Order: sequence, then structure tokens, then C-alpha cells
Amino acid sequence: MLSVIQNPPRVALPIVGSSDFFPVRRVYCVGRNYAAHAREMGADPDREPPFFFMKPADALQIVGSEPVAHPYPPRTQNYHFEVEMVAALSEGGRDIPVDAALDHVYGYAIGLDMTRRDLQDEAKRMSRPWDTAKAADNSGPIGALRPVSLVGHPARGPITLSVNGEIRQTGDLADMIWSVAEQIAYLSGLFVLHPGDLIFTGTPSGVGPVKRGERMVAAIAGLGEIALDVV
Ligand code: MN
Repeated sequence: MLSVIQNPPRVALPIVGSSDFFPVRRVYCVGRNYAAHAREMGADPDREPPFFFMKPADALQIVGSEPVAHPYPPRTQNYHFEVEMVAALSEGGRDIPVDAALDHVYGYAIGLDMTRRDLQDEAKRMSRPWDTAKAADNSGPIGALRPVSLVGHPARGPITLSVNGEIRQTGDLADMIWSVAEQIAYLSGLFVLHPGDLIFTGTPSGVGPVKRGERMVAAIAGLGEIALDVV
């Protein structure tokens, strides 16, 4: 049998210090996982169980060690950055216990959950899905993966985003409401997880808009940084 169209390319992440690559299956994202960010979005961080949404894998934008051009998407006047640590799974499963969850992680990367905030606000107001807000083309910039064998499981240390050299988001990985292990465990009760799945683990407070001509630099302790020029 032959494919009747050209095969869509498989999205794959580069791996630091290696010519190997990590093929991506699904991209899960957790919402409001740092208390100060939950409050800035008008939610109560003390009462909410975790909730998740997805980005299409082909909405990722692979960012290497050099700054890349990041296209400003159409149909928004309020395009927001959200810096997030991303966990990449080497093993899947269902109903994974919290104390075994980190054994399923291959490595970690810096990601951005770019968001058309005006479309998200409208979706919230009208009780509609978030896809147009969260799944824009290129809305998931992500750096190279760093294997657990090199970086362990980052659980504390600064996570920051600057625009044109000015720090706009700053937090600490230790301030996650739901740890990476708890997110994996919870998510595996909702979906069967598989190797290749990514989890964007939430953003600290300070989210805000970015404009064409501005440079975003996202950094996480132990995971380096990525730079994007909005065009
Ligand atoms: Mn987010």
C-alpha cells in the first residue's frame, strides 16, 4: 500500500550532546501550576485539582542554541509568553503511581506555552474550547532535551523569561503546585501515556504580551536557555 499524500514529517527534538533525536507523540500541558500564576489568572490555587489541555505535536517550534525567528500568529492582539519546564517520557503506562512516575522520564527541556490570550479569554467567557488560544502554529517553542542521565530531575531552581533583557517572569521549580511525578500519575489516570509524550509543567507568574521586534529569552536552572525573536 502507498500513502496517497506525502507523509507528514515526524516532529523530533534534538538531544544535548548527541546526534540522536527524540520523536514526539503527544504534547500535554498542565494549567495554573504555580500558585502566584493561578492567582493572576483569577483562580484559587488551593482548591483546584490539576487540569490539562493539549497542543498538537506539529505546533512545536524546535529551538537550538542560536536565537530563532518566532512568527507572531494571526488573529490576536494579545500574544502571551509562558515559560515552562517540559518533561519528555521514555515510558508510558496507565495509573502510574507517584513514586514510580519519574522512572518514566527520559529528560527535560525548556518550553514556551505561547498563548493567544484574547482568544483564551473569549473561550473562557463563552465556555468554549481553548484550542485556538493554545494550539497556534509554532505556539510551542522548545529547546533541546537534556537526558536525566545528565541533569537528573530538576525540582528547584530559577525559571525565568525576559523580554529585551528585562525579566518578566520569575519563579522557582520548587513552587509547582503539582510536581512532575504527580502530574504524570494524574495524567496517566486520564490517558494511557506512551513513550514520546511531552508534558509542559506549568508557568510561574508574570505572563504577559510580546510584540514583533522583541526578543524573548527563557531560562531554567540546569537546562540552559532559548532565545526567540518575534517577527
Ligand atoms: Mn501554560
